[in-house]
Amino acid sequence: MDNDDKKAKELLQRLLKNELPLHRLEDAADPKTAATARRLFMEKVTGQKLSGIGSSALEFDKVHGRNAENVIGAVQIPLGVAGPIKVNGEHARGEFYVPMATTEGALVASASRGMKGITQSGGASARLIGDAIARAPLFELDSIADSVRFIEWLEKNEQGIRQAADSATKYGRLKKIHPFVLGNNVWLRFSFDTGDAMGMNSATIASETASEYIEKNFKAARLVAVSGNMCSDKKESYVNELLGRGKSVVADALIPENVLKDVFKTTADRANNTNLKKNILGSSRAGSSKHNAHFANIVAAIFLATGQDAAQVVESSSGYTWTEVRGKGLYISVTMPSLEIGTVGGGTHLATQSEALSILGVQGVGKTPGINSKKFAEIIAASVLAGELNLLCALSARELGKAHTDLGRNKKKG
Ligand code: NAP
Repeated sequence: MDNDDKKAKELLQRLLKNELPLHRLEDAADPKTAATARRLFMEKVTGQKLSGIGSSALEFDKVHGRNAENVIGAVQIPLGVAGPIKVNGEHARGEFYVPMATTEGALVASASRGMKGITQSGGASARLIGDAIARAPLFELDSIADSVRFIEWLEKNEQGIRQAADSATKYGRLKKIHPFVLGNNVWLRFSFDTGDAMGMNSATIASETASEYIEKNFKAARLVAVSGNMCSDKKESYVNELLGRGKSVVADALIPENVLKDVFKTTADRANNTNLKKNILGSSRAGSSKHNAHFANIVAAIFLATGQDAAQVVESSSGYTWTEVRGKGLYISVTMPSLEIGTVGGGTHLATQSEALSILGVQGVGKTPGINSKKFAEIIAASVLAGELNLLCALSARELGKAHTDLGRNKKKG
């Protein structure tokens, strides 16, 4: 038994005797030993062997105080690569293999086929049309007269608010304040440029500092919450779709008849009809704001692979797929108003996630702040486009169930 094992066993005894709470183990040992002790404790409590959870490449000292509490190990998700996909973006140019972490058989293959079709068609264009993460503090006032005075005061004092917000972060810059009034309640939707970071911590810290400045200088306004849900983080909302949140990004491609036939076994008319009737009509009839086939599949798999905040798949996967028949070819575009991603911060520094970002050439900070995250956004949009193209074509060729049986149920012959 080495010293770490001895220490972990000693901590286990203290846990079992209730001498230490679970979350204080890092006060008594290094993060790796603390995680081992906690896992051994969970084995005792549950009577289950947790050796799989215990064997991981995690650098526990990097996780502690940054990414998770009460750590006992890691779950592992298979990582596939889709592609290559040719992207003709403003920031992303060239062919990319895209890392996707998933347990859904057929997903990587599906994205790959879409990417093959796009690449054979000359590639996907991708462009950013907005770039700002939002945080919306909520203030209460005594009356609507005060609300109106507050809005007038804000217009005149934007400079002071901006200086207060920007003083809290090196890379965060307050770009816009969008007020929303409901009687005596006023939300200020702050939008920030946060460089290569997704920016939620930076924006929250900057919003707190700006809110303190506001309360100090406009006494009638009282802060209710630094996040008043007009932000809107990790929730479905129209505000994000209309004003954007994180990266607002679009991608498109023109798929010629021969590629539709050879790669996808379908025609432009069939794929277009499927999009109009499924994504547009079906989503409307269902009352869904997600007018797409499966943005969430591609977004979630890339998020998990690259250390993004998984809960932000909610709004990052909202958006629209649009198709048109052009001659005998298919024009297809995706519009993603609120893709929340970063190449620094959050889980992006963890060893495996950081390696996944490096596959795309967007690990960490680029030559100028923000350049890597913009490139990353364009690659994700192009990948989502590939996912949409493939699924629409597969549905129009009636291939969906077969693909999932072959690749999701281990039934492929030969
Ligand atoms: P973060 O890891 O908290 O902050 C990013 C850090 O990187 C900052 O210290 C920033 O410096 C620094 N940095 C260095 N180079 C940079 C560059 N080129 N561009 C931007 N920043 C650079 O990450 P975050 O993106 O702000 O927040 C993401 C985390 O917030 C995730 O873990 C997510 O799960 C979590 N989250 C928080 C909330 C919340 O309400 N607080 C909500 C949702 C998610 P400066 O600080 O000096 O700019």
